Amino acid sequence: MLLHFSPTKPLFSPPNLRRNPTVSPPRSLRIRAIDAAQIFDYETQLKSEYRKSSALKIAVLGFGNFGQFLSKTLVRHGHDLITHSRSDYSSAASSIGARFFHNPHDLCEQHPDVVLLCTSILSTESVLRSFPFQRLRRSTLFVDVLSVKEFPKTLFLKYLPKEFDILCTHPMFGPESGKHSWSGLPFVYDKVRIGDESSRHERCDKFLKVFESEGCRMVEMSCEEHDKHAAGSQFVTHTMGRVLEKFGVESSPINTKGYETLLDLVENTSSDSFELYYGLFMYNQNALEQLERLDMAFESIKKELFGRLHQVYRKQMFGGGEGKKTEQKLLNDGVVRVKEESSSSSSS
Ligand code: NAP
Repeated sequence: MLLHFSPTKPLFSPPNLRRNPTVSPPRSLRIRAIDAAQIFDYETQLKSEYRKSSALKIAVLGFGNFGQFLSKTLVRHGHDLITHSRSDYSSAASSIGARFFHNPHDLCEQHPDVVLLCTSILSTESVLRSFPFQRLRRSTLFVDVLSVKEFPKTLFLKYLPKEFDILCTHPMFGPESGKHSWSGLPFVYDKVRIGDESSRHERCDKFLKVFESEGCRMVEMSCEEHDKHAAGSQFVTHTMGRVLEKFGVESSPINTKGYETLLDLVENTSSDSFELYYGLFMYNQNALEQLERLDMAFESIKKELFGRLHQVYRKQMFGGGEGKKTEQKLLNDGVVRVKEESSSSSSS
């Protein structure tokens, strides 16, 4: 077939769809969408809409060391972060995509779903006493991350309006131990008071989900039980770290693995404020007992060492049988008694 080509007439003129919508173009040339979002755009859009609708507005109270550390992850999970602290952290907040409010009243007027208390243990009561709860929604969820648990639970029950939900938590890691990953690190929580409505439970679970999906080992435990365990583990760990720091452990060219562990311990604990450590001692009723046990254990180890040294020294001084007689004399004169290991009857 011969095709006649005319330079003035196009080879194929598409029907004018705009002017005559009843005329359909040939099937293979049908235009299905004009300026429509591509499928992948649509999915991204849906995802971000879903994220927005399931995001919590979280007010972080106390934007210091630990408050900032937690906030980075909460923002990464798509939550809307608003913050307040005694000091001005506005640039730190904006650097992670959070908003900073100098005045707690302005913060509360944003009507957060969750208020996350990250202030020091020692300041908890004064912070709660002056907090403008009346500006919050009546169903707000209050969460704390204090390293002691019975103390904030008691204060929450005392100061918070009874309509508020209460979740006491302790992420058992910090900016040092959790800097690479939270995977396998313990997260203790106690749902102290969550209202009956399913939306309140969902909100609480959504908050916990952040830690769960970061791989934390989620441990539901009463605040009282937490404090018993934490005094024997966390407080002792912090104490040993501080003792070793005072002692002055330093790296050497022949570090053993055990010694490296001690250096790590000092590094981990020295980055926490002394105020935090003092809070662990003051506001956990089990801490004093653990400190006394540590003291006794140290004394007992010293006694064992000096006891043996004493025996060696005595043998060198008195030799065999002769020494026994002299010792007996000394004993009768009322000198120190140290139990002898070789014979049950004699002592010196
Ligand atoms: P921290 O010394 O225990 O607390 C510092 C925070 O408390 C700062 O936000 C500070 O605000 C605020 N603060 C102190 N005194 C205040 C007062 N009188 N009034 C109002 N705010 C006051 O150090 P942290 O490491 O950041 O710990 C914060 C909380 O997280 C503590 O309750 C701690 O037990 C808990 N926690 C810490 C870790 C950790 O590894 N660090 C781990 C788990 C739980 P400004 O900075 O604005 O002064």
